[in-house]
Amino acid sequence: MAMADSLNGRCLCGAVTIRVASHDARVGVCHCRMCRRWSGAVFAAFTAPASDVTVAGKVALYASSGFAERAFCPICGSHLWMRNTDDPAAEYDLMPGLFDATETWPLRSEIYADRAPAYLALAGDHARTTEADYEADEKSVQGDQT
Ligand SMILES: [Zn+2]
Ligand SMILES: [Zn+2]
Repeated sequence: MAMADSLNGRCLCGAVTIRVASHDARVGVCHCRMCRRWSGAVFAAFTAPASDVTVAGKVALYASSGFAERAFCPICGSHLWMRNTDDPAAEYDLMPGLFDATETWPLRSEIYADRAPAYLALAGDHARTTEADYEADEKSVQGDQT
């Protein structure tokens, strides 16, 4: 967990602001069908501990599975975060586009890398995990990709 200066982010309309006191300054991408559909193209996120995330403004939550929720601004629709709901202390997977400071961060990993669409061939030597390998490690997501 990289400890850096706190980050300040906001949605497109500004109704939701997010302050992050500590975070991992790298971005992970998921190409699973749920993330692709929710994001419209590519799901990218960075992690931060729940105790270090402060949210102001009204947020809409969508339970995308039995164990995770996805948050968005009910006014402008900006995606805000995804988070497991089975653990009150679960970290946040925050959308980097809300925070200008993330522009220089590296890509940490891609999961469901073999499911990436042709228009999202991401260059670099970051970690890549296939659908089969990811689901072998994360039993809870199996059968959740319909
Ligand atoms: Zn908004
Ligand atoms: Zn996903």
